[in-house]
Amino acid sequence: MTKAIGLFSGGLDSMLAARLLQEQGIEVTALAFTSPFFGARRAKKGAKQLGVELVIADISEPHFEVVRNPAHGYGRNMNPCLDCHALMIRFAGREMEKRGLDFIFTGEVLGQRPFSQNRKALDVVARESGYGESLLRPLCAKLLKPTRMELEGLVDRERLLDIQGRSRRRQLELARQWGLTEYSSPAGGCKLTDPGFSHRLREALADDPGMDVRDVEILKVGRHFRLGGGVRLVVGKNRADNERIEALAREGDVLLRVVGHPGPLGCLRSREAEPPLETAAAVTSRYSDAPRGEPCRVEWREVGRERRGELLVTPFGEEEARAFAILPGKR
Ligand code: SF4
Repeated sequence: MTKAIGLFSGGLDSMLAARLLQEQGIEVTALAFTSPFFGARRAKKGAKQLGVELVIADISEPHFEVVRNPAHGYGRNMNPCLDCHALMIRFAGREMEKRGLDFIFTGEVLGQRPFSQNRKALDVVARESGYGESLLRPLCAKLLKPTRMELEGLVDRERLLDIQGRSRRRQLELARQWGLTEYSSPAGGCKLTDPGFSHRLREALADDPGMDVRDVEILKVGRHFRLGGGVRLVVGKNRADNERIEALAREGDVLLRVVGHPGPLGCLRSREAEPPLETAAAVTSRYSDAPRGEPCRVEWREVGRERRGELLVTPFGEEEARAFAILPGKR
């Protein structure tokens, strides 16, 4: 029996590609990935629906290297889709070899995404992955050169498809025909396609080129401020943010909180020996219930160290705080 492993997000295209091969009697294994930018929740649902084995690989570290330095650049935001696809296919190739499977497949559709699914991009991804010879794109295979798998008769080319472009009409028809009802939004991308998040990440990498993958999580919570070159402050928006910020603070970060009034947790991250505590306290207290225009007490402590203290500051007003905010379109 022919056996294949496929990149599987649980999105419609990956579901259809897997199902199309199942229709030919090919045994399919689904491969999903996790990183700070995407998870495997939808893939789990999709694999269950198709009745296929799901393998989940954590590619956080190599993926972050690709995000930091993509050989083929970014899409509209910080999404390095070509390099990301190549990386995932490389992982799939290794898994294929380890398990003695016959080939790899993806749900890519020619012309569906302008940056990553044009003909040139598909060729680049195949080449860079190192597994181009074993890569099949069932949904658009008839528009591409026959692959080894088709030439050797492992796959019947006649029963593959020639879907092209951005319309989802044929995919939706197939989903109906095969009774696939649960799949993630076709328009969805990973967190790196979110303009607001991408902006934060870009700024964080500029401020701290040495940041590592563990530092990505804090970019997902709260309000973010830059208090000077390389000095950043994160302020929670709600209790969940505050708890998350506290959990993600690393040694040397300074945590700040207003005394005597409900308010957020601030986390100051700085490479300076004397971080700008007063500014951080004035921004943090702006989002507390401390009365406007009156001094309030803000306590601070350095994570993992002994230093702690208290400051008396007047909370910033809206405009003063906004002047430090990291917002899309503002540097
Ligand atoms: S949208 Fe995200 S997960 Fe998908 S290929 Fe692009 S970078 Fe990778």
